[in-house]
Amino acid sequence: MNQFLSVSEGRHLGQKDTPVYHRRNTVLVAGGAGFLGARICERYIEKGYCVYCLDNLSTGRLSNISHLLDLPQFRFFRHDVVLPITLPGPVSLIYNMACPASPPRYQIDPIHTMLTCVTGAINLLDLAGQHKARILQASTSEVYGDPSVSPQCESYLGNVNTVGPRSCYDEGKRAAETLFHDYHLARGVDIRIARIFNTYGPGMDPLDGRVVSNFVTQALKGVPITIYGRGAQTRSFCYRDDLVEGLLALMHCKKDLAAPVNIGNPGEFTIAELATQVLALTGSRSPLCYRPLPQDDPQQRRPDISVAMRELGWRPKVKLADGLRQTISYFASELRRNAPQDAKVVV
Ligand code: NAD
Ligand code: UDP
Repeated sequence: MNQFLSVSEGRHLGQKDTPVYHRRNTVLVAGGAGFLGARICERYIEKGYCVYCLDNLSTGRLSNISHLLDLPQFRFFRHDVVLPITLPGPVSLIYNMACPASPPRYQIDPIHTMLTCVTGAINLLDLAGQHKARILQASTSEVYGDPSVSPQCESYLGNVNTVGPRSCYDEGKRAAETLFHDYHLARGVDIRIARIFNTYGPGMDPLDGRVVSNFVTQALKGVPITIYGRGAQTRSFCYRDDLVEGLLALMHCKKDLAAPVNIGNPGEFTIAELATQVLALTGSRSPLCYRPLPQDDPQQRRPDISVAMRELGWRPKVKLADGLRQTISYFASELRRNAPQDAKVVV
């Protein structure tokens, strides 16, 4: 425990209402200060659980969890998953969300991204084994690389470059899936693997460089919308709350589900169509500008979610336009909060 820098620890000592962190009602969210991890923390607090949130704050932000920090049933530990992990008490559920998800962010230090995926997975799997906890891996549609089939179903083996700018993430996530599979077979660890497709929504970092963050902030500021390539490549965008409900359904499903499961929204849009929707919904007059397509940028992505629908009874509910409205309003308030007095935000 002493390797942790605990931000919230100690505030709870002596409080009458300090809850007991029983194994059965305690969850660990690694990467819990990130976009998706913070929402998972929130959902478990709502469900009456105690939550350990562990994060190195490399791409996550304390502002994502600031409303939870003072709760006695929430404890934050600043820690890197690459280092060995011990916890102050037992847990029954572990989410491994710890990894930068945005291409420009995970490419800043590719070796650390690979270490996060691989050593981080080993450390968390060992922890799951010690605590007899179920552990869910946040895997990704990137394991399919630049796919030659569409939609992508779980049995598709992928088309991934081992030596490109995206490889640290794609191959790291593939290796992590292998580690999960082998810990399950060789050591009986109770695993779940979610292959997450592009997700957006409130809580994203406006500066993370992902397409939704870029387009919405550019539209709100009235500056050019940066389309990489001709914008003909496709993505399928899932709203944050739909995605997190899918992860919870997978984690709590009583069936034996150790194999990977796609979680995403099958609605498929070109990047040019996304730009058009963002401009229409913000009422912005930002011009479009075209930039070179990054190397190995996948040309299409669309999940086949029949396994998730059949086994979990889950499907996404939020349409892109509705999710974008929520996201635009969140980004507008983030920009207002961070903008100098005289800065212009269009809506
Ligand atoms: P994010 O960058 O907002 O969150 C990741 C969190 O992990 C951050 O809080 C970051 O500080 C933390 N982190 C990174 N490296 C760490 C390390 N070595 N030790 C401890 N903490 C570390 O990203 P997100 O969108 O919330 O994604 C969460 C997870 O879901 C990631 O594993 C990502 O690969 C996966 N995923 C996300 C998407 C998506 O579209 N959002 C798609 C596919 C997969
Ligand atoms: N993209 C874009 N403009 C931007 C950011 C991204 O055209 O300002 C494109 C990017 O080339 C990719 C798609 O949008 O084709 C999704 O990019 P993102 O980084 O969000 O996620 P990816 O699915 O590539 O990991």
